Amino acid sequence: MLSRDEVFDELGIGPLWRLRETPVAKTAAASLQPRLSWEALADAVAHCTACKLHLTRTQGVLGVGDRNADWLIVGEAPGADEDRLGEPFVGQAGKLLDAMLAAISLQRGDNVYIANLLKSRPPGNRNPEPDEVAACRPYLLAQIELIQPKLILALGRFAAQNLLDTDEAIGRLRGRVHRFQGVPLVVTYHPAYLLRNLADKARAWEDLCLARRTMQGL
Ligand code: URA
Repeated sequence: MLSRDEVFDELGIGPLWRLRETPVAKTAAASLQPRLSWEALADAVAHCTACKLHLTRTQGVLGVGDRNADWLIVGEAPGADEDRLGEPFVGQAGKLLDAMLAAISLQRGDNVYIANLLKSRPPGNRNPEPDEVAACRPYLLAQIELIQPKLILALGRFAAQNLLDTDEAIGRLRGRVHRFQGVPLVVTYHPAYLLRNLADKARAWEDLCLARRTMQGL
């Protein structure tokens, strides 16, 4: 299995985590590695052919929002609307996500960055396959390195299980604070699921309150 260094090199976006060293080392590393940027990442996603989804997608969907956000929201994969418009969560589920964010005084683009585990739409909105998840993971890792969020909110079983590398049910993952590479991570239901399961909205509200409390306590 390739190391993270090797995977990033393969993608042509370089070993981003080296930028976390001292400010001097950071500046030196940045000047030595001009490819380490949002522009390089966006370009890599736009031209990515690392998995078969590139054959059927309209475009890669990198993410949207404040690139210095404290909050990173991670969903599953672009759907039809996102694939067409190039932005995550722009369909019905996106409207509910915006309402969920508003409930804790947040809004898209303002101290919030929204991304998906997968940057390309699985055809017919089928579940992502393991090779697709593995191929796309470095992009999310790169986004986390660049954003340095204070808290990650994982939306739905798929994002939660993949980020936490577990097959525990979402019902057992929510309600506590996990860590992803040291960053606090809270799990809640996917807005698309909540659109079909209204009764779980109350639980999602509890999750959002947990996330807000966690952020306030940082
Ligand atoms: N569902 C997701 O998980 N992500 C999107 O961007 C849209 C719907």
